[in-house]
Amino acid sequence: MMNYDKAIEKYAELLVKVGINVQPKEGLIVVSNQWGLPLAREVIRKAYEAGAKHVEYMMGDDEMVIARYQSAKDYVFENFPEWKVELMIKLYEDNYHHLFIIAPDPELLKQIPSDKVAIDQKTASAAMSPATKFRMTGQTKWCIAAVPSEAWAKSVYPERSTEEAIDGLWGKILDATRVSLDNPVEAWQEHDKMLKKYKNFLNEKQFDKLVLKAPGTELEIGLADEHFWMGGSKESWAKDAFVANIPTEEVFTTPHKFRVNGTVKSTKPLSHNGKIVDGFGFTFKEGKVVDYYAEKGKEVLDQLLANDEGASYLGEVALVQDDSPISNTGILFNNTLFDENASVHLALGRAYAYAMRNGSSLSQEELEARGANFSLIHVDFMIGGPEMEIIAYSKDGEATPLFEQGNWTF
Ligand code: ZN
Ligand code: ZN
Repeated sequence: MMNYDKAIEKYAELLVKVGINVQPKEGLIVVSNQWGLPLAREVIRKAYEAGAKHVEYMMGDDEMVIARYQSAKDYVFENFPEWKVELMIKLYEDNYHHLFIIAPDPELLKQIPSDKVAIDQKTASAAMSPATKFRMTGQTKWCIAAVPSEAWAKSVYPERSTEEAIDGLWGKILDATRVSLDNPVEAWQEHDKMLKKYKNFLNEKQFDKLVLKAPGTELEIGLADEHFWMGGSKESWAKDAFVANIPTEEVFTTPHKFRVNGTVKSTKPLSHNGKIVDGFGFTFKEGKVVDYYAEKGKEVLDQLLANDEGASYLGEVALVQDDSPISNTGILFNNTLFDENASVHLALGRAYAYAMRNGSSLSQEELEARGANFSLIHVDFMIGGPEMEIIAYSKDGEATPLFEQGNWTF
């Protein structure tokens, strides 16, 4: 096993200083499973160095998760402990912020009946929603970052020994998160500045539509009325910048549900519910998918589009340049946190209210009237690559090139 002490220290510093941006006298909640322990220990050290008033560590263990699913009675999954909701609200109200270190096992719940998992997740997210609101509104700062688990590493490198697979995935995570650079904190400040530059430019221009061209892709995407571009760090209520996902590379907004026309071809496989779709594409007419194909896993697309009416319309368009640390790793991570940021992408399904101007204060009807799509699903698929060209058009037809040969033009 390689020695990651130095890298873990740099990673921890990045999460504390840039991810959460811990301020003196703030509290921090750190959540991880067993694989996150070494990083969590270092995060706790760095958080206290930054002046944290208290760090609360909450550990989950994969085997305990399985034990609960296998042995608990049905009523366990339909009832959520009220005190857990109250505890989280108390912590958030007391100026605690929340770091999630994930180390997913893509197959962890494979032998658990999926309806049991679905009921459990639905119960938990409904019960926790008064607490989740603190994060969604930016009152509470939060950050998600990842470390390898054995099972995750083996899913990326099935042909390698466990140790080599973990080493391989660690290396890719450190590259993708810029931790392998000399000064990751500085690199992120620079990176965030660029994302802000693009985001502000696009918000100022309020373009009418984008036209995307690449091999197999010729797509016109009308943007929603009063769409809002998001990207990079967010600002908390206390006016501190924080980065909710490390890594993040995208600048994204809301397409107009009924103003998408043309064809688009995927450039990376899509991993959905543990199944792979590859070599696929869609034809859109007035926003709706009217035709589609896949060299592999077409039945996954059949199911996806059958979810509800909104599943056949777009809910997100995200710009990521081809020359970025994630896409430069050249691997599929089998994890959304990374794969979603690998290239220019679109999402079928739900639009994000916060990617509309004042969107969080609008009703569903108001959002729909501006062209935002609604659905139970939100599934991203990658369409970017070294040949992608994107031109933005204003309402009066003036063209502004955004992407040439896969990268930003400015
Ligand atoms: Zn996205
Ligand atoms: Zn998305």
